[in-house]
Amino acid sequence: MSNTIDFAAQTPHKYRELAPYAVHPDQSRGRRYAEPHSLSRTPFERDRDRVIHCVAFRRLEYKTQVFVNHENDLFRTRLTHTLEVAQIARSIARNLNLNEDLVEAIALSHDLGHTPFGHAGQDALNICMRDYGGFEHNLQSLLIVEELEQRYASFNGLNLTYETREGILKHCSRKHAKQLGELGQRFITGQQPSLEAQLVNLADEIAYINHDVDDGLRSQLLDLAQLEAVDLWANCRQSVTQHYPDLRGRRFIHETIRTMINHLIIDLIQTTQQHILEINPDNVDVVRHQHQALIRLSDTMAAQAAQLKQFLFNALYRHHTVMRMNSKAKHIIKKLFNAFMDDPRLLPADYQSDSIPYQARTIANYIAGMTDRYAIKEYQRLFNVNEI
Ligand code: MG
Repeated sequence: MSNTIDFAAQTPHKYRELAPYAVHPDQSRGRRYAEPHSLSRTPFERDRDRVIHCVAFRRLEYKTQVFVNHENDLFRTRLTHTLEVAQIARSIARNLNLNEDLVEAIALSHDLGHTPFGHAGQDALNICMRDYGGFEHNLQSLLIVEELEQRYASFNGLNLTYETREGILKHCSRKHAKQLGELGQRFITGQQPSLEAQLVNLADEIAYINHDVDDGLRSQLLDLAQLEAVDLWANCRQSVTQHYPDLRGRRFIHETIRTMINHLIIDLIQTTQQHILEINPDNVDVVRHQHQALIRLSDTMAAQAAQLKQFLFNALYRHHTVMRMNSKAKHIIKKLFNAFMDDPRLLPADYQSDSIPYQARTIANYIAGMTDRYAIKEYQRLFNVNEI
């Protein structure tokens, strides 16, 4: 049996509804290492499946979103956050006739490079790596899928398509962009990625600003009265109260949050449809050459989302309870990094090296790959004489 297949001819249902400006699977720029086509899946379905099966994906279950994993069983973790991003992105993609498989592959891999303990962990590791090129979680996600995963006989990493990797690299400093070739080019020229990549970026934001309100209320670090100062919440709360005047408690909170998510999604779809009509891109490269993203919220909704983000920053992410955990997290990361740098023999054999810059990067990879509880356990093993 032949190893190649004409997908468009064999599986027309997978192609039929894609808009001209979507990424079409038969026009993919391909993989770094050439592979025969799958007989049953498009390249982006295959990317998605590779991500789901990789170790870094399973680690997301035990990594912090805002709250450390063991603080409460119901708070979001990186894994449930990732699934929410994928759900929101897929449902918008279908409305815009974008490539849902690509959107899903990007969404499921967008946070693979996060350290334990969320942004506090990443900030601490970036400081530790100051003299060795720094640490950026976006670049780390790319490194995982390009190099660090060890699953396949003939290459390192997952050998994902260009388009999925383009979407994973959401941000990147100019310094690092210069070292990334084609993939880094748009950060130097100020151009855009595919609409699928732009979409996941905004779906990420829609997911977290909403689920952080939910987790913030559940943790009682936020209260309903405070949220009245936030326009998006206040507007949606009013609409819920109008329809269900007696609704209280968790059901009231969930109804309000789902109304907020819905408002954001509808606004995003309508605003984007307008931009697409204006530019009328007939292929994805026209999208890439724009200097502004086409997937956007309206100015009014973007301002409301920004206001909610600022509120969360002040009231939740800077809440002293969260700050205390962040401070402990930074302490753990720094102590681990310094201990391993001082004596690399403390590292598992696979991570030991003779070159100092390479050793620093290997230690960063080791620490970044840890789950919250593994990092805490490793800290205890290194610094608590009663632990082995
Ligand atoms: Mg995210």
